[in-house]
Amino acid sequence: MISTQLVVVGGGPGGYAAAFLAADLGLPVALVDPEVNPGGVCVYRGCIPSKALLHVAKLVDESRHAKAWGVEFGEPKIDLAKLREFKNAVVGRLTSGTGQLVRHRKVQYLQGYAEIVDAHSLKVSLTSGAVESVQFEHAILATGSVPAMPPMLKVDDPRVMDSTGALELPDIPKSLLVVGGGYIGLELGSVYAALGSAVTVVEMTPGLLPGADRDLVDVLARRITQTMKSVLLETSVVKMKAEAKGIRVAFESMRGAAQGDAGNVPKEQLFDRVLVSVGRRPNSKIPGLERTQVQIDQRGFIMVDEQRRTHEPSIFAIGDVVGEPMLAHKASHEGRVAVEVIAGENVAFAPRAIPAVVFTDPELAWCGLTEAQAAKENRAVTIAKFPWAASGRAITLDRTDGLTKLVIDPESERLLGVGLVGPGAGELIAEGVLAIEMGANATDLKLSIHPHPTLTETMMESAEVFFGQATHVYRPKRK
Ligand code: FAD
Ligand code: NAD
Repeated sequence: MISTQLVVVGGGPGGYAAAFLAADLGLPVALVDPEVNPGGVCVYRGCIPSKALLHVAKLVDESRHAKAWGVEFGEPKIDLAKLREFKNAVVGRLTSGTGQLVRHRKVQYLQGYAEIVDAHSLKVSLTSGAVESVQFEHAILATGSVPAMPPMLKVDDPRVMDSTGALELPDIPKSLLVVGGGYIGLELGSVYAALGSAVTVVEMTPGLLPGADRDLVDVLARRITQTMKSVLLETSVVKMKAEAKGIRVAFESMRGAAQGDAGNVPKEQLFDRVLVSVGRRPNSKIPGLERTQVQIDQRGFIMVDEQRRTHEPSIFAIGDVVGEPMLAHKASHEGRVAVEVIAGENVAFAPRAIPAVVFTDPELAWCGLTEAQAAKENRAVTIAKFPWAASGRAITLDRTDGLTKLVIDPESERLLGVGLVGPGAGELIAEGVLAIEMGANATDLKLSIHPHPTLTETMMESAEVFFGQATHVYRPKRK
């Protein structure tokens, strides 16, 4: 029997960040997860393996483009076993690191699966076969999420994969259908396209990445339509059937005859493999949860207040299991907030800007208020855009398709949101997050000297555009 101040259930980026901070603050803490080391979905079958593969995909794409710059490499030869080995080594290196940090911090790590007994105790079925009881003052539930698999898309055949299956890289299919044009579909679709698959993306809404501003998505969509075989918008899969030669898929276009292009959507097609990436659902079916006062909303998320406390005062919840955006850095931040609350601090989870990054090529990133959200809320904003065609750094990279945009409050001139599309957008967005969190205004951005030649200058020059004074574009301020 273990008795501890805090037990954290789930060792993903939410759970392990929480457990590590608790240990740093001197709280006795136990962490429960089925894997040998902490990491969760993000490290074992999400953010990390996908980014290792996207790094390779970008190299393959660039090697093809290099011909235009006077360097010819020839067609890349893909050694799939070695690529898998690289991806697995990346995961192994990170998770052995988190394992070491567990030991250094003397976090009590229980490799197993937790079941709640009541508001102050749980039992863990350890992978060794034994069962351990844990008494706690506080618990943090960080059980994450799992791929959504609607019954219509559920086919009992290994050729129909979710993201976990696709990250295994079983082979390079000649043809791949990606159902869902969101984060996973576009990231993993890009990997397979770079490796040589003919990729078709089917998305049921009128555009890719429904949460992002259209002007940013348009830039990505233009490139993706070149690397992928086809992108079918406003289209749904109505039937999927496994046959000896492949997966037969029937489509239905939701575009009216008025739009005229429903004819481009095939009625039926055979694919070697299918990746289903239509979202994720919270993993809130924690055994025994019904023995507590914890409440779950209609979409399956555990309900929490701004301190991440559930309806059961001793139990907190964080990460994917409490709501969107389902992102690793949001989970980690919530974990740290919950631990500080448990340690007696008067804090809350109240970010002004949570960054979102789609690691495609080009990358797409945004934080804070989007232009679309502002329009939906009927909120007056000024948009200042700087096209990368006017950036010296973008021209040296031969990547002038990018765009930086600022969403600014016209009265206070405060920065409310940032959107970026272009290579490296995922790194650049951090400046926007800091600026928004610090309450920076357009003058602050304009007056901060940015290094030349870098893509960061596009942030400064967007602020200059706001004042009608950008050095590299002529956009006089409207009177
Ligand atoms: P998770 O990482 O889901 O971890 C939950 C853990 O709890 C798991 O290990 C699970 O086994 C364990 N668990 C569940 N039930 C129990 C129980 N009863 N007892 C003990 N343990 C339990 N996000 C980003 O920010 N950037 C990215 O680039 C990115 N890429 C992604 C790519 C893919 C393919 C996928 C699928 C996701 C990606 N995400 C990315 C999302 C990111 O992985 C999640 O937002 C993040 O992992 C959520 O962290 P978490 O701590 O809430 O839970
Ligand atoms: P998503 O919500 O990003 O995208 C799902 C897409 O599928 C949406 O565009 C939706 O309109 C579409 N869709 C839904 N049902 C459909 C259907 N029946 N037919 C066709 N299209 C359909 O979900 P995802 O791509 O599965 O990713 C899940 C979550 O994981 C993301 O929302 C994100 O929070 C996280 N994630 C983040 C990253 C990152 O940060 N780079 C990468 C991967 C995943």
